Amino acid sequence: MASAPTIKLSMIEDDIAVLTLDEPDKGANILSRHVLEELAAHLDDLELRSDLAGLIICSGKPGMFIAGADIREFVAAQDEPKEVFVEMSSAGRRLFQRLSQTPFVTVAAIDGICVGGGAELAMWCDRRLMTDNSKSQIGFPEVKIGIYPGWGGTARMPRIIGLSNAAELICGGENVDGKAATALGFATDTVPTADLMPAAVALVRSEKASQSYLVDRQRWAAPLGMNDTELAFLAVTSQAYIQQQTKGQYPAPLAALAVMLQGANLDVNAACDLEANGIADLFGTPINRALINVFFLIDRNKKDTGIEAADVTPRDLKSVGVFGAGIMGGGIAAATARRGYDVALNDLSEEYLQKGLRAVIEEVSYDKSIKGPSINKALDVVPHIDGTTDVADLAGCDLVIEAIVENPDAKKQLYAKIEPLLGDDAILASNTSTIPITRLSQGLARPEKFVGIHFFNPVRKMMLVEVIRGPETTDETVATAVAYVKKLGKYPIVCNDGPGFVVNRLLLPYMNEALELILEGAPIKQIDRAAKSFGMPMGPITLYDVVGLDTAYHAGGIMKEAFPDRVVESPLITAMYEAGRFGQKSGAGFFAYAPGQKSKGKDDPTLAAIVDPLIRKQQAFSDEQIVDRLFLPMVLEATRLIEDGIVRNVRDIDLGLIFGVGFPPFRGGLMFWADHLGAATIMEKLKPYESIGERFRPTELLKKMATNDGKFYD
Ligand code: NAD
Repeated sequence: MASAPTIKLSMIEDDIAVLTLDEPDKGANILSRHVLEELAAHLDDLELRSDLAGLIICSGKPGMFIAGADIREFVAAQDEPKEVFVEMSSAGRRLFQRLSQTPFVTVAAIDGICVGGGAELAMWCDRRLMTDNSKSQIGFPEVKIGIYPGWGGTARMPRIIGLSNAAELICGGENVDGKAATALGFATDTVPTADLMPAAVALVRSEKASQSYLVDRQRWAAPLGMNDTELAFLAVTSQAYIQQQTKGQYPAPLAALAVMLQGANLDVNAACDLEANGIADLFGTPINRALINVFFLIDRNKKDTGIEAADVTPRDLKSVGVFGAGIMGGGIAAATARRGYDVALNDLSEEYLQKGLRAVIEEVSYDKSIKGPSINKALDVVPHIDGTTDVADLAGCDLVIEAIVENPDAKKQLYAKIEPLLGDDAILASNTSTIPITRLSQGLARPEKFVGIHFFNPVRKMMLVEVIRGPETTDETVATAVAYVKKLGKYPIVCNDGPGFVVNRLLLPYMNEALELILEGAPIKQIDRAAKSFGMPMGPITLYDVVGLDTAYHAGGIMKEAFPDRVVESPLITAMYEAGRFGQKSGAGFFAYAPGQKSKGKDDPTLAAIVDPLIRKQQAFSDEQIVDRLFLPMVLEATRLIEDGIVRNVRDIDLGLIFGVGFPPFRGGLMFWADHLGAATIMEKLKPYESIGERFRPTELLKKMATNDGKFYD
């Protein structure tokens, strides 16, 4: 049976047609093949009509214009030869280009998100109008999946908004709102949502009268006419900026810049041909595949309720209490208040409470668009934040998150005070990073309402949150925690309880191995450099200084107790800890830091006195060996997480590492990378290291994968 159409034709006035996109049963309009075919069929009919003054393209979904092309169709074509991609790109462009050649004015009336292929469709219209609400955004996020706009975006955008603006928009991949799009010249104007269609009709009329759209049709089809000096200047400055941002690990922005520069002085069709040819080289590459995987990881996370049961609904939360106004509690309170919850923040000490509240107010008042505090934001949010030193003041909260000192006795004493005061349905959560949720749940009257909600530091920046099930936590509690985390705009991954949960358990073998490498003669800088060229945002040695060697020392102790067979107790971390070299916070760790600054560490000549006596051998390592030593134990630990049933899906491991510790997105995630290598290759890579100890011995799961040629992502 044929499915209902996505695009419907109607007449808003006798001579003005409207094409409304509204994909049945979907929250978003996606430009799948069948939608493009529908558009083509409508244009076939409309182009023949001589009675039309204009065509308006809009969406039937409030707050959603078009979310882009259908990435699943790209994936299906990933193994096709280059010509297929060239044709995919050219055919889409030829279709949209008809919107700039019709015998009538074409206007895109944009309310809501308009990105990727959607922005290109709008771009090929003669004019664009946007609504003035914050949901209306246009953008070209293609570089985030390792490609660039391929339906004429790199050719026509520079002609509409100028090459420099187009390069910034397309190579950066960030969205802009209607106001910014108007300032750029992409949109003619922004209007309130209710006025969008009348304004689009008025625009058709005024364009028809002035005929200025015809002038632009000619202008935007012609070469840009930039001189060599202008082009060379733009090339040098943009390349340098992109290189700095991508560290040479993401080729798409530079490729986009190259076609825009080469196409600048060609006519638009020739520039489009260049685009189609160039984009075909990016499709299907390992980086494109890896970044598409990340896209799907996020997409899956957005749909995942955190539980398997379909008949459990999360509870509605209005008020959230936070215990502990320190680094984490303050961050959690601010993130929660920003999303419209009533927040009560508690600390033992009045002094810490006031300090914490100041930090929260500063954070919620920050306005990105003016890069500073906004009085309006403060007035909106601050009345919803209460500070108190009285535990009883949090009694009425629907959710209470404890973020006090990492001491199980202190936490349990607090639970004993607050739990009897809470409503029957209220949820109690801990932000602990190392104490088992199982242990903290012992002695609670309602362990089924207890859950771990583990934010990462700094809360403002880190997208990942682990939601940890205790032995008696119910589905409703988990689903409510997941829904709350999503409301904060973050990615929750649900796991079962176990030492280090997911992310810290995987980070530890990597960090541990870095210290072992030092003691086997690898230079500190080489270790960090190898990890960074693998794609990590910073090397493991620098990470020690950032996390704090005291924290790492205590966390290491807990992991050693849990996994004595494979966690090495490094004499180096003990020596650093005993010397008070805690890292950035104490002014010295593996590097030296200027007091009171979060500056980049400098070499510290006094470090040798601690490290040198502990070095066991003076071995030379290649960067590849260092990468293997750092990341293979991580892969093995991940297979143990799966074997132990800690994670629900391997994809949670990958999402967790990318958004929890910055594992390089261009590798698609740890397990995606492992699949790329193949289990048999990993077994081979492990062989030379097996004598080191258990931490390098293949697990049963890996052996099974190698025998069956299996993939973690199956
Ligand atoms: P912090 O030392 O910055 O803040 C803790 C606050 O709790 C202090 O202000 C203290 O006065 C207050 N406090 C202590 N006992 C209290 C009580 N009984 N009632 C109310 N307030 C009390 O600590 P933090 O770094 O924010 O860590 C808090 C929790 O978050 C810990 O469980 C920690 O393991 C976890 N965590 C920390 C990080 C991190 O990187 N700092 C990351 C993830 C999780």
